[in-house]
Amino acid sequence: MIDFKNTQIAFEAKNNADLRRAKFLFNTIKHPWVVKLGKVFVYITSKTGFPVGWMLKPTIYKQFVGGETLKKCTPLAQQLMKYNIRSIFDYSAEGGGSDKDIQQTFNEFISSIGYAKNNKNVAYTVFKPTALVFDELLKKASAKVKLNENEQTQYDEYRQRFEKLCQRAYDNDVRILVDAEDYCFQDAIDELTEEMMRRFNKKRAIVFTTLQMYRHDRLPYLEKLYKDAIENNYTVGMKFVRGAYMEKERERAKQLGYPDPICPTKQATDENYNKGLRYVIEHLDKFEVFSGTHNEESNMVLSKLIEEYNLERNDNRIFFAQLYGMSDNLSYNLAHENYNVAKYIPYAPVKKVLPYLLRRAEENTAIAGQTTRELELIKTEIKRRKTEKRNCKKQ
Ligand SMILES: Cc1cc2nc3c(=O)[nH]c(=O)nc-3n(C[C@H](O)[C@H](O)[C@H](O)COP(=O)(O)OP(=O)(O)OC[C@H]3O[C@@H](n4cnc5c(N)ncnc54)[C@H](O)[C@@H]3O)c2cc1C
Repeated sequence: MIDFKNTQIAFEAKNNADLRRAKFLFNTIKHPWVVKLGKVFVYITSKTGFPVGWMLKPTIYKQFVGGETLKKCTPLAQQLMKYNIRSIFDYSAEGGGSDKDIQQTFNEFISSIGYAKNNKNVAYTVFKPTALVFDELLKKASAKVKLNENEQTQYDEYRQRFEKLCQRAYDNDVRILVDAEDYCFQDAIDELTEEMMRRFNKKRAIVFTTLQMYRHDRLPYLEKLYKDAIENNYTVGMKFVRGAYMEKERERAKQLGYPDPICPTKQATDENYNKGLRYVIEHLDKFEVFSGTHNEESNMVLSKLIEEYNLERNDNRIFFAQLYGMSDNLSYNLAHENYNVAKYIPYAPVKKVLPYLLRRAEENTAIAGQTTRELELIKTEIKRRKTEKRNCKKQ
């Protein structure tokens, strides 16, 4: 049994000042009104260009973001590797939405693949399909609405970008994760990702699809993928997450009058997630697995499955992953026990990463529950260090 409450291991990379800063930050963002105020602030900043770097960089940015560029993130990746934790650099610039923004983001994704090549500190690369195309177009394609000539040209360009990223990953022997997004885009994303997996995953998994297990239709989809992998002789790259857009999805389904795609309860989502893990470990002949979660139980379930099926803890086909700045108690303790662990490390200039930071803050309010966990662990470690220091002095 791994002890996820071992704060000494969890925070071994953090000095006392880091811990105090993290405590202050989580104590601040736990208040929903702070996050609401943050939303207004981000809106004003995006409209007026008000400089915010001086305030955010030493606080929330430092906690959740690796740096502005890949190069600036290098020391962090080296530092994590000292603790057996690999990095996944995630270009998290959001907003924009012009052709120029799309091209720039695509170039950055390409650079991140080059950066990962032969780099033992980096476990995977990642991209968000919606960063490569206009939302409205992807929505239409997903709903199988007929595109006009101009739209079809744009959609073909998007397909080419998607394909180029997968091809580049394949050529450089780098695994690439395709993030999952809103329900209204997902059918088109899934379809294209399946096509890429059939093409590039013949010898091993290079392209990874993402299943949001808060969707009640994902287990049958998982089984369908397995059958397809057998029929077409490839390995499915399977990234599991619970899903980040629950409230939005429920609201949209209600407004547009279609059935809610999300599981009715948290417990149903949890069961779905853990069943998914069991399914892929039972069918590891055709899967590689990436489990992206901060849920303690799911991490425990996967570690037990590894044991149950007599697999090596560091079997290269199985990775645990968390977001940078969150749940170090899981990442560091798993890595300490020799499991494969990776951290998603967002990077981008402060202004471009604001929506990402807001999402992290929202996830860390007292309502979401994550903050209580983080705060308790940080407080425990601060206390433990004080006691240790006192005992040392006595001796
Ligand atoms: C490495 C990594 C990569 C990620 N990549 C993606 C991605 O590509 N796409 C994406 O959408 N998200 C992604 N996420 C975010 C993820 O989907 C979750 O939002 C987040 O991790 C919280 O879920 P959890 O499993 O960590 O933990 P928990 O705190 O145990 O679960 C919270 C989640 O449970 C679900 N949930 C909560 N309440 C209910 C309810 N009443 N009914 C049904 N379900 C409920 C929601 O999905 C909620 O986010 C990623 C997370 C990580 C760690």
